[in-house]
Amino acid sequence: MPDACLFCKIASGDIPATIVYQDDEVLAFQDIAAQAPFHILVIPRRHIATLNDLEAGDQKLVGSVVTTAARIAREHGHAQDGYRTVFNCNRGAGQTVFHIHLHLLAGRNMTWPPG
Ligand code: AMP
Ligand code: ZN
Repeated sequence: MPDACLFCKIASGDIPATIVYQDDEVLAFQDIAAQAPFHILVIPRRHIATLNDLEAGDQKLVGSVVTTAARIAREHGHAQDGYRTVFNCNRGAGQTVFHIHLHLLAGRNMTWPPG
């Protein structure tokens, strides 16, 4: 893992976060600058910089990230009203932290198209 990776440091516990779920593969924590009443980031523990860096063997890991987001949404009562999940890939899409993360946003109506 690169020294400078913020989310690797959250995964290792070196930087604090409000963690809502963790297992040996993935970690979910509150976004520090929430863009919705409920805004969680789900990450793989392993450092992967962008979606462009995924390999065929990462399918199960990415599946765990997505199913974890869906389960957290359900457990927090957002399944019925709905929620948005977003992976930003590279700067043009708004990625600012280069360790893949799935945004889970809920608790307000979402608009489309996204900005
Ligand atoms: P992105 O712009 O898609 O790369 O998303 C990065 C997200 O990480 C943003 O929504 C930030 O608010 C969030 N973030 C940055 N630093 C922290 C931190 N220390 N703890 C929790 N979330 C963070
Ligand atoms: Zn990392």
